[in-house]
Amino acid sequence: MRNELLSWFAREGLLLHDVVTAAEEPEYDEIKVSVKAPIIALSRAHEDFRECPDPVLFGYPESCLDMMNIDDFHQFVYEWFEQAVAAGLGRCFVCNKQLDMGTEKPWDAVFVTTEMYCWLLVHFDCKRYLNRDLKGRNPFEVTSHPPEFFDMHVS
Ligand SMILES: [Zn+2]
Repeated sequence: MRNELLSWFAREGLLLHDVVTAAEEPEYDEIKVSVKAPIIALSRAHEDFRECPDPVLFGYPESCLDMMNIDDFHQFVYEWFEQAVAAGLGRCFVCNKQLDMGTEKPWDAVFVTTEMYCWLLVHFDCKRYLNRDLKGRNPFEVTSHPPEFFDMHVS
């Protein structure tokens, strides 16, 4: 992840910190702090977590992060999700059914802030079960892969 995006998340207070003491090696009493930026879930499956796409690498202007607030960022992620769903990659986090862009869109992209910072897709009807399915997830144990590329150049 580019430092610019990392700093943007820091500015918005969206970085999680995990303090790890290297207990196995007592001769080095160093403390490691690992940082986790928000992630994206195409489904609840382990292999479907993605690093957050960087607007600049997806076609937004070079200086866009300076001007973006959190709502703009939600909008960017939402548009990325729309492309992912159109490509058949998105599933409801709760019921795991594949989502589509049909005429009456029954799903929403939500940003969860309990247990971890993560954008995910969920049916409106499934939302009430979301907390149950997030419970006990540790963001530092989630391996996220690079996000699929979609050209999101704003013309
Ligand atoms: Zn569902």
